[in-house]
Amino acid sequence: MFNRLYIHVPFCSEKCQYCAFISRTPQNDELVEYPALLSQELRLNSHNARLLKSIYFGGGTPSLLKPEQLGRLLTEIAEQIGIHEEAEITLEANPGTVTPVSLKTFYDVGFNRISLGVQSFDDRFLTSLGRIHTAEQSRQTFHAARQAGFKNISVDLIHTLPEQNIEQWRLELLHALDLCPEHISIYGLTVEEGTPFARIYPPGSAQLPDDDISADMFELADELLTAAGFEHYEIANYARSGYLSQHNSGYWKRDGYLGLGVAAHSFLHEGHGVRFCNPETLDEYRHGVTTGNAKRINEQRLTREDELSEYMFLGLRLSEGINFSAFEQRFSRSLESVYGTVTTELVKRGLLTQDAHAVRLTLRGMLLSNQVFSRFL
Ligand code: SF4
Repeated sequence: MFNRLYIHVPFCSEKCQYCAFISRTPQNDELVEYPALLSQELRLNSHNARLLKSIYFGGGTPSLLKPEQLGRLLTEIAEQIGIHEEAEITLEANPGTVTPVSLKTFYDVGFNRISLGVQSFDDRFLTSLGRIHTAEQSRQTFHAARQAGFKNISVDLIHTLPEQNIEQWRLELLHALDLCPEHISIYGLTVEEGTPFARIYPPGSAQLPDDDISADMFELADELLTAAGFEHYEIANYARSGYLSQHNSGYWKRDGYLGLGVAAHSFLHEGHGVRFCNPETLDEYRHGVTTGNAKRINEQRLTREDELSEYMFLGLRLSEGINFSAFEQRFSRSLESVYGTVTTELVKRGLLTQDAHAVRLTLRGMLLSNQVFSRFL
């Protein structure tokens, strides 16, 4: 069972230097073919769906597809499954791939949220990252999205860039605030194996800010953005009141979601939950969809223990934390009886805090979240 839909578009105009996501430049008529494959997959896999609360087109760069193509797909989704009238429908868009006209058409065909891959407002960093746009284009795209009607716009930023210092990061945050977005996502750069960045900046490279600077950048974002009225509602995410990402919150609350497209992940409520992903190449994906024999890759059927531990490490990502009575209702056991020893120790170390109702990460706990989560595995 699922009530959220993720659609992966594995194409980008050019490959960024730091990118380890499944995406590549499109060839021949792949951009024309791909929406048709998504429609076919939708028809194969839409059983056990509930009225959709959110739809998220991610990538890659979904804004490379034509708004009319995605509009037709949204119509089919509405016919096959049904979309709640207040559903959040997000398009990830990269500056340089949209125009005022295409943004207006994306809005008119049903998208109500844009997640804009700005990453930096400094052209030197944008060039070193291999982004295809300038900071000015990001600003223009943001204003064009507003003009097109979008009342819910998110901006992505990356910190811990090579040779970036804390003052440069402060400026990035202030530039983002100048735009008055409803939502800001903030990620620290990780240099992933196999990317051009991994060759340019091997482990220990002097050009990469160290862990202390990275921690200062994380804390500065919290300080500036919360002072500006944003809620730090998840480790990497900030929102104005009423604009928390519904779709991503669903992931952290373990709502079921179906992933369509190359390499898309799914989580369905079968038993204690089942996770799997689609084939990672377009050829394999096409073969599965066109023969009606779509393969589930890395299928993992969760046990009750898996469910318990996921409930903790996903739920703790959210600043609302884990509510004790919700836990007890769900598992017929108190959180104290299952994880009391671990939570007491993490509270003593200043990584968790708890009151009568819930246990949550502290700011330091968010910073060291991997250490915390490993205790619930
Ligand atoms: S736009 Fe995003 S998905 Fe595409 S190459 Fe750049 S970082 Fe990767």
